[in-house]
Amino acid sequence: MKLPFLGSRLVVFTAHPDDEGLAAGTMYENHRAGGKTFLICATSGEKGKSHLARPVSDAALARIRRGELRAAAKALKIDRVIFFGFPDAGVRANAARLYAKAVPVITRLKPDRIVSFGPDGVSAHWDHITVGRVARRIAKKLKTPLAAFTLTPEVIRVRRNQKTMFLKRRKFGKYAGIPELREGDIKIKINAAVKRRAMRHHVSQFGTRPPFAELPKTLRDKMMGYEYFVEEKI
Ligand SMILES: [Zn+2]
Repeated sequence: MKLPFLGSRLVVFTAHPDDEGLAAGTMYENHRAGGKTFLICATSGEKGKSHLARPVSDAALARIRRGELRAAAKALKIDRVIFFGFPDAGVRANAARLYAKAVPVITRLKPDRIVSFGPDGVSAHWDHITVGRVARRIAKKLKTPLAAFTLTPEVIRVRRNQKTMFLKRRKFGKYAGIPELREGDIKIKINAAVKRRAMRHHVSQFGTRPPFAELPKTLRDKMMGYEYFVEEKI
């Protein structure tokens, strides 16, 4: 399988602090191969469930989560992190503004490739789906290759059987229908230790639980070995 990512100028366009986990190992490998990575995060994640001991205001949580993402980005050797400050869980209502804000920023970064969410949003979160749609419009406009995050094939197969979880989530209104995740056609071998260390910075999100704690350990370990992406037709 070819590795079209590594050693190039990558713009990774996400919605929340911790979404970068979908490409964390890949961004680190891009750095090792001499590439540059620019990470854009549309929100500051202030509406995520807090695992902090004391309740904090949205503004304080936003500050904490930006700091956590900066620390993770440093561990992953990301060249620059750009926060757009759109309201968490409110990206869909601001899609036009997000596009207007992102176009000049991404144009200036001159990416060889944009990486973002596909139509499934991985978890079907509307913030993810909206960021993915904006990324697609920009990739088209700039005639830049686009790749979508996806999960390890083994995890996708398990999730197909987890429809109840997605049905429960839909009640919160932040989520679209049940996503049919596509299996990736790009596979990047990653450094598990680097990814684990980086993602551990997101204390306010995960507490001491590992990301994807709902999955059995064997599957979680698989997710630390490779990252997968879907080559999008634009
Ligand atoms: Zn997210």
